[in-house]
Amino acid sequence: MERKNIDWSNLGFGYVKTDLRYVANYKDGQWDDGVLTDNNMIEMSECACVLQYAQTCFEGLKAYTTEDGRIVCFRPDLNAARMADSCRRMKMPVFPEERFIEAVRKVVKANAEWVPPYGSGASLYIRPYMFGIDSIIGVKPANEYQFRIFVTPVGPYFKGGVKPLTLRISDYDRAAPRGTGNIKAGLNYAMSLYAIVDAHEQGYDENVYLDSGSRTYIEETGGANIIFITKDGKLVTPKSNTILPSITRRSLLHVAAEYLGLEVEERPVELAEISEFAECGLCGTAAVISPVGKIVDHGTEICFPSGMTDMGPVTKRLYDTLRDIQMGKITSPEGWILEIM
Ligand SMILES: *Cc1c(COP(=O)(O)O)cnc(C)c1O
Repeated sequence: MERKNIDWSNLGFGYVKTDLRYVANYKDGQWDDGVLTDNNMIEMSECACVLQYAQTCFEGLKAYTTEDGRIVCFRPDLNAARMADSCRRMKMPVFPEERFIEAVRKVVKANAEWVPPYGSGASLYIRPYMFGIDSIIGVKPANEYQFRIFVTPVGPYFKGGVKPLTLRISDYDRAAPRGTGNIKAGLNYAMSLYAIVDAHEQGYDENVYLDSGSRTYIEETGGANIIFITKDGKLVTPKSNTILPSITRRSLLHVAAEYLGLEVEERPVELAEISEFAECGLCGTAAVISPVGKIVDHGTEICFPSGMTDMGPVTKRLYDTLRDIQMGKITSPEGWILEIM
């Protein structure tokens, strides 16, 4: 197999049209067989439910090349299960989980030339999504849906080295109690756009959202879960039913407990206690962990002792261990790595 001629290590995070994408349609109560197509455009009614009422959800995962040259994905079964949860909450038909994994396999295989080589730091980002496509004007779920998966190569997250982030406590809310914060719905992102643009204009990398019920507890940022390390080396992560269940965070908890022998605590975390922590990081598929150096709460700076130049030592061990598992350098827990070819 000949790889595409791309400067992999200088790729950014943007859409690049690759060769083939997967499309399946739901109509009259059932999914069709699904096809791979070279057409990256979608034609739909001006009144499509997704355009009027945002009935859509998505997933994000990566394929990459291991040290021994295999192309693999990390825990796609959890993406399939999470998308099924998102669909149920959005009154969309579930795309069967086994078919989701099969479709991921097909698209990655069909675009194998776009999978970056081992060592480049780049990967192939996989974006499954679904939306209501038929015309809906009275408020109700669509009758017809499209499930698609496209892939696009993305560059290394820490291009030019690790740089700890500066976050701010947001005055806006991300998720309502009993709302949709725990599913991967496009609507959660639509309402975060104002806050993220404002954060960037004010010189911050991201917003930390508090629980919108009491505005006392830390939830997560716009697109990543948060972990903290205590001064005695314990991993603490917020527990709340309005946080999106990050697969990276769940994997890191397992790595912390089972590979590094750390104590792990999943519990409500108060804004008032975060100045006690030694390290902080954001976790998600994009970066695995990005270290946080500082959180600013309305002019009060909370600076983590790990500083503004490096990952904290425990964060680094977590990061390295999970990366080594993903890259096949150390034995992974059963079923974490799906070999595609
Ligand atoms: C996707 C997402 C994450 C990260 O989840 P991973 O499965 O680890 O990629 C975290 N928070 C939000 C709001 C997300 O949408």
